[in-house]
Amino acid sequence: MKVTIDQDRCCGAGQCVLTAPTVFDQSEDDGLVQLLTDRPDPSVHAEVRLAAALCPANVITVHEGDS
Ligand code: SF4
Repeated sequence: MKVTIDQDRCCGAGQCVLTAPTVFDQSEDDGLVQLLTDRPDPSVHAEVRLAAALCPANVITVHEGDS
């Protein structure tokens, strides 16, 4: 799995950080999402998929495969 974000669309709702805290963080300056890793551990793949589904601004894209 590979994860990409379109930070320009982020509205800082923070759902992703609550859902997958080892993969997403929020900037202390502007509250926008930050990617902690673009290759999350398989143990958190389900969390990452959920975070992508819950993001209200469609910021998170999950590319399946490529481990
Ligand atoms: S859930 Fe989406 S809009 Fe909210 S902080 Fe995360 S990436 Fe940004």
